[in-house]
Amino acid sequence: MAERMLQFVRLQQQTPDKRAASMRREDFNEIYEKFDPGRASAQASRCSQCGVPFCQVHCPLNNNIPDWLKLTAEGRLEEAYEVAAATNTFPEICGRVCPQDRLCEGNCVIEKGFESVTIGSVERYIVDTAWEQGWVKPPTPTRERPESVGIIGAGPAGLAAAERLRLRGFQVHVYDRYDRVGGLMIYGIPNFKLEKEIVLRRWEQYAAGGIQFHLNVAVGRDVTLAELRARHDAVFVATGVYKARDIDLPGAGLGGVVPALDYLTASNRTNLGDAVPEFESGTLNAADRDVVVIGGGDTAMDCVRTAVRQGARSVTCMYRRDRANMPGSMREVYNAEEEGVRFLWLSAPEAFLGGQDVTGVRAVKMHLGLPDATGRQQVAPIEGSHFVEPASLVIKALGFDPEDLPLAFDEPALPVSRWGTLKVHHRTFMTDLPGVFAGGDIVRGASLVVWGIRDGRDAAEQIEAYIKAKAEIPQAAE
Ligand code: FAD
Ligand code: SF4
Ligand code: SF4
Repeated sequence: MAERMLQFVRLQQQTPDKRAASMRREDFNEIYEKFDPGRASAQASRCSQCGVPFCQVHCPLNNNIPDWLKLTAEGRLEEAYEVAAATNTFPEICGRVCPQDRLCEGNCVIEKGFESVTIGSVERYIVDTAWEQGWVKPPTPTRERPESVGIIGAGPAGLAAAERLRLRGFQVHVYDRYDRVGGLMIYGIPNFKLEKEIVLRRWEQYAAGGIQFHLNVAVGRDVTLAELRARHDAVFVATGVYKARDIDLPGAGLGGVVPALDYLTASNRTNLGDAVPEFESGTLNAADRDVVVIGGGDTAMDCVRTAVRQGARSVTCMYRRDRANMPGSMREVYNAEEEGVRFLWLSAPEAFLGGQDVTGVRAVKMHLGLPDATGRQQVAPIEGSHFVEPASLVIKALGFDPEDLPLAFDEPALPVSRWGTLKVHHRTFMTDLPGVFAGGDIVRGASLVVWGIRDGRDAAEQIEAYIKAKAEIPQAAE
C-alpha cells in the first residue's frame, strides 16, 4: 500500500468550501465549491484501503472506491476517472446528490472516531476534472448492430440503460414527454444541488454518440406501447413516479395550495430560461410570500430552499414527526436551517384557511407514541393544541406514487404491484410482456438517482442477453 494512504490519523476530514448562507440565499448556484487538487488528493489519502471496504458494499453501484481514492491521492486522475466511470454512468452527479451519509460515507470504517473519507466530493472532483480535461467521450460503439431498443423515459434509469446499450452497438431510441433530457435530474432536483449544465452536457454527449432522442413524445398519448414493441426489438420502461400524494383537508382547493413538483419544475424551467406563465403570474412563485411547506422528505427540503432563493418573506417547514424521525437527509435540514428556514416539528395540518386564496394553515401539535409493527413511532394529536400558521403559499410535499401505467399505456397485461409500481422478474428486469423491461422509480417507487442508474445498467445487460438469444433461436426468448 502506498505510504501516502492511511492519513486519517493525521488529517482532519474536510469537505469542499461551502458558500456562506447569506450568499447562497441570493442565487441558485451550487452551494459547494470544487475541491482544489491539493485538498482532493489529501482527503483521498485519508482512506485506509480496507480489505473489506464497507463503503463499496453500501454503494448501490458497488463503486471501486478504495482504488479511485488511492489513484487520486497519487495524482493519477485519468486512471481514477476510468475506474469511477467503469461502474457509474453519472459519477459527477452521484457525487453531488447521493445521500452519502446513508450510503458510502455512512459506512466508511474510519467514520468511527475519525469522520469518514469525503467519498462523494472526491468522486465529483475526479469526474469534473475529467470533463475539463476532455476525457469524457460520447458512447460510440466499435461495431454497429442492427437491432434497436426503445427506452421510455430519459431520467437516470433510462439514460444509464441507453448508454450501455449504445456502447454495445444497439440502435437506441429514447422517448420522453418532456422537452429536455434528464427526468427529475433536470426538472425536479434544484440547481443549488445539481447545476443543470452538468445534466445538459451528458445529453449532448449521448446525442453525439448516436442515441436518438424523441422528445415531447408521451407514450400513451402520442404513441402506444404496442407500437413501440412492434418498432423495437425490446422496450425499457423507466417513466418514474409522478402522481403527487394529496392531502384531503378542508380548503385543499384554495388558490395558493400547490403540489411540490409543479412548484419545483416551474422554478427549474425559469432558471433554464423558459417562459413559465405560472411563475410570472405568481401562482408558482414564492417571492414576497409567507410559505409553508408540508412534509419532511428531501422534496420538502428542496421546496423550502427554493422558496428562500425566490425571495419569500418567511419560509416554514411543517412536519408531523420530529427531527430525529424525518425521512429527509440531515445534511439538507442543516443547510435549510443555515439559509433561514424555520421548522415546525410535531405539527400536522388540519385545514387550509382563506376565502379564494389561502391565508393560513390550521394545525395541531402532535406527540410521538410507541413504535408500530414497522418499528416507526406513531404520532397522535395533542388535544387543545391547535394553532394557525399564516401562509400565502402552501406547498404540499408528501411524496409520489406511480401513474396507472397499464391504463395510460392501454396495456392491461402490464402487471403492477399493489402500490402501482410495475412488476418485473427481479433477475431479468422483464415484465410479463415479452421484451418489455422496466426499472428505476417506476419499479422501486420513489427512490434515488443512484438506484435508477443501477437498474438501468443491470437492465441493459438483460436486454442485450434477451436480444441476442432471440437472434440465435427466435422462439427461445419468448
Ligand atoms: P425519472 O427521473 O423520474 O425520469 C422519468 C422520465 O420518464 C421523465 O423524464 C418523464 O418525463 C418520462 N416519462 C414519464 N412518463 C412518460 C410517458 N408516458 N411517455 C414518455 N416519457 C415519460 N435522488 C437523489 O439521489 N438525490 C437527490 O438529491 C434527489 N432529490 C430529489 C428531489 C426531488 C424534488 C425529487 C422529486 C426527487 C429527487 N430524487 C433525488 C429522486 C430521484 O430524482 C429519482 O429517484 C430518479 O430521478 C428516478 O429516476 P428514473 O429514471 O426512474 O425516473
Ligand atoms: Fe457514494 Fe453515491 Fe458515489 Fe456510490 S455513487 S460512492 S453511494 S456518492
Ligand atoms: Fe477507505 Fe473508508 Fe472505504 Fe475503508 S471504508 S476503503 S477507509 S473509504
